[in-house]
Amino acid sequence: MNENPSTYDLIIIGAGPIGLACGIEAKKAGLTYLIIDKGCLVNSIYHYPLGMTFFSTSERLEIGGVPFISHGPKPNRFEALEYYRRVSMSWELNVKLYEAVNASFIKDGFHHVTTTKGKYAARSLVLALGFYDLPYLLNVPGEDLPKVKHYYDEPHPYFNQKIVVIGAANSAVDVALETWRKGAEVTMVIRESGIRDSVKYWVKPDIENRIKEGSIKAFFNSEVLRIGETSVDIKTPEGEKTLVNDFVLAMTGYQPPFDFMASLGIQFHNDEFHTPVYNEETMETNVKNLYLAGVVCGGLKTNKWFIENSRVHAEMVVADLKNKIGIK
Ligand SMILES: Cc1cc2nc3c(=O)[nH]c(=O)nc-3n(C[C@H](O)[C@H](O)[C@H](O)COP(=O)(O)OP(=O)(O)OC[C@H]3O[C@@H](n4cnc5c(N)ncnc54)[C@H](O)[C@@H]3O)c2cc1C
Repeated sequence: MNENPSTYDLIIIGAGPIGLACGIEAKKAGLTYLIIDKGCLVNSIYHYPLGMTFFSTSERLEIGGVPFISHGPKPNRFEALEYYRRVSMSWELNVKLYEAVNASFIKDGFHHVTTTKGKYAARSLVLALGFYDLPYLLNVPGEDLPKVKHYYDEPHPYFNQKIVVIGAANSAVDVALETWRKGAEVTMVIRESGIRDSVKYWVKPDIENRIKEGSIKAFFNSEVLRIGETSVDIKTPEGEKTLVNDFVLAMTGYQPPFDFMASLGIQFHNDEFHTPVYNEETMETNVKNLYLAGVVCGGLKTNKWFIENSRVHAEMVVADLKNKIGIK
């Protein structure tokens, strides 16, 4: 264990559910640790749509043995925010918020971490970075207009508005259905020839039927060419079309911060998902004492790991640390 108060046994980057779980395991093992997040506690969940409901039941989102009671069959965003605040308070976790980690390098066996507010050192580092900070951009003229959103919060602002929803996966489908049900005029622009098979099986027929009956318009095998103040130009198999438009909701997905990971020396497999290199038993990367945990482990396969199935990463990381230090 580390006796020097100016350094830590473990620094965890990311105060999402899995970063918090890592902090709890470190605390249980008697290690000194610090969790750092660029935003608020569980920053990704905070930025999810306001009315979202988790697909998992609440006990599958629990960490640190703290019971998660939800009022419906599945918990919602508000309940999850309340729950993870409670977890952080009841475990008295050492968390610094609104402090982005910009860089880290190894010197004399320590990871030296630089944030927007300070410098820290630790024997080991865990990256529990998630993937929700970097949206895939459309890279078309007009994308920087304020009417173009890469994150969706709630349907109310879109009442009586002509909106274009881009994408064919779960979030695009949820946004199209919710905004249409709350009074928006919705057109979907979809690169593929249909709604993705990965869309939740109970939602897929709903969107397909709304498209079939013409309530929601959809252009398949189509893409956005440019966005104007009151229009969107698209390319379709029938040629170019101009849609009259008030808002564009680009639900095109997000990607992990690969550049940041690479800057720390992490290597990636040469596969389609750009999967980071790590030991699946210990979670340690190719860089000594640098670990991964949570959804970031999947690279571009962002649906491979989620809270339910990656909570265990926290125990694996700390078990390896205990092994190295010689704690039983
Ligand atoms: C709409 C939706 C519904 C979902 N429903 C479920 C569900 O029902 N069940 C389930 O198990 N999973 C669900 N998920 C997935 C789940 O939310 C994620 O898998 C989970 O948030 C991953 O946790 P994490 O701790 O690995 O990453 P995150 O929760 O994404 O946390 C990463 C943290 O790292 C911080 N960070 C990133 N870079 C830096 C930096 N440089 N410096 C400091 N901090 C940084 C971020 O601010 C963030 O707080 C859902 C996801 C979405 C989008």
